[in-house]
Amino acid sequence: MLDPFNRTISYLRVSVTDRCDFRCVYCMAEDMTFLPKAEVLSLEELDRLCSTFVRLGVRKLRLTGGEPLVRRGIMTLIDSLGRHLKTGALDELTLTTNGSQLEKYAEQLVAAGVRRINVSLDTLQPEKFAEITRWGKLEKVVAGLQAAKAAGLQVKINAVALRGVNDDEFDELIAWCGQEGFDLVFIEVMPMGEIGADARLDQYLPLSMVRAQVQRRWTLDETDYRTGGPARYYVVRETGRRLGFITPLTHNFCESCNRVRLTCTGTLYMCLGQNDAADLRTPLRQSESDAPLEAAILEAIARKPKGHDFVIDRRHSTSVSRHMSVTGG
Ligand code: SAM
Repeated sequence: MLDPFNRTISYLRVSVTDRCDFRCVYCMAEDMTFLPKAEVLSLEELDRLCSTFVRLGVRKLRLTGGEPLVRRGIMTLIDSLGRHLKTGALDELTLTTNGSQLEKYAEQLVAAGVRRINVSLDTLQPEKFAEITRWGKLEKVVAGLQAAKAAGLQVKINAVALRGVNDDEFDELIAWCGQEGFDLVFIEVMPMGEIGADARLDQYLPLSMVRAQVQRRWTLDETDYRTGGPARYYVVRETGRRLGFITPLTHNFCESCNRVRLTCTGTLYMCLGQNDAADLRTPLRQSESDAPLEAAILEAIARKPKGHDFVIDRRHSTSVSRHMSVTGG
């Protein structure tokens, strides 16, 4: 699949649920309203949609949410999608998770063919963790991470850089990931979804500043390592682990965008930071043949925009009204 700017679209991120067992302050309001269950695609429908994308050329699938591992029966979908790894149609099946359910699922994920996972973790301090996630327990996530490691999963930690919240912990996170054998990626907070007046502006911390801060203690060696995602990587010489930066605001990462995002209701967003979307649920349900669905996907890819235009300043602390948990981070 080629978009109008000649970018090959080979990466699909799928939000399998908008629900989550955490309420991270920069991501969701505490009293979020979730979708009625009837609007959400069944696991079989999600499988059919993902498999159609694979047939059209998607080589990498990432399940996300909400929290993908709180969706009931999720292993049925993951096991089933694993068949595309066996045939060679898919290079990678992976997920982004908050880690709360990993103790239960790590071994099953490996059995299904998952090799790498991203785990979101912004702090190593239990009280701060409880403040950021509102409902989460750090010890549960750490136990999940140990289970993932024991099962043989490669782990990448995603940490959102938050001014005044975890900006005193970057060195500790790098050291800890070094000890545990995890790669680490810092993410800039993005203006998505209403979370309360000015909260995000106060949290925003440009990663250029984060990089300058960590370079006082660590030596960052350049590398051209890429995962097909938007992070730019360095190798931390002292730990030997990779450190990545995702900088949607200070450095636009759109030129090499290879992905589209599907919500759990079957809406396809061609860009994380734009509102244009395509309804795939109607063609999915309208016919047993996949032809109308394939046509709708190709028509949507032909409309993929060049890039996003996130801005954070006093007048714009929310550029896109939907929350990250809807489109899937
Ligand atoms: N529940 C899973 C998790 O915690 O990783 C998957 C969904 S979560 C929405 C995916 C990622 O988006 C997490 O790393 C989270 O920190 C990040 N995220 C959520 N809202 C964000 C925002 N406004 N700016 C930047 N990252 C955000």
